Amino acid sequence: MTETIHTPFFKRLSTLYAHMDTAWTAAADHYGFHCQGCVDNCCETEFYHHTHMEKHYLLAGLKTLDPGTAEKIQTRAAMVCKQRTHAKKTGETVRVMCPLNSQGLCQLYDFRPMICRLHGIPHELQRPGSPAIQGPGCETGDPLFSAASYHKFDRTPFYADMASIEMEYRTAIKNPGKIRETIAEMLMN
Ligand code: SF4
Repeated sequence: MTETIHTPFFKRLSTLYAHMDTAWTAAADHYGFHCQGCVDNCCETEFYHHTHMEKHYLLAGLKTLDPGTAEKIQTRAAMVCKQRTHAKKTGETVRVMCPLNSQGLCQLYDFRPMICRLHGIPHELQRPGSPAIQGPGCETGDPLFSAASYHKFDRTPFYADMASIEMEYRTAIKNPGKIRETIAEMLMN
């Protein structure tokens, strides 16, 4: 990869992602939980992402694919955006597969954003001066999570590190604006 203004940030992001993956795997192993796909597929959930850095990292990942594959993904992304816009207008609830998911596999697995890495496992979040907020795991894993002792999976340091690197990144790219986009929307840029 050619050295650009993004490079040092992408290296730090990649290291942070590796820490998340290690913590997630340790928690999943504790519960004996191994995601092999399910009806309630989290890749159909309309998650919003809030960092410019993750967006640009994902788009850098898209550039590693062959042009034909990248074009197909962007065509699917446009369709996903259209379906969701239509559903919002009509008040329908839709579940639409992420444009990066092909036959159950993420085509940009190494570049997938934080929420895709942290989802599924019971977790907690510490707020200064408040008790920890507990979050559930996914429904598919629930019988395993309920049967085992609690394994502390604290998202707080990951969120804090992400926010810190993102603030520096925004300064570096001279874009202090907020961002709230789905994967499909990010891929359309
Ligand atoms: S980026 Fe990958 S892991 Fe995340 S929702 Fe899309 S297909 Fe699933």
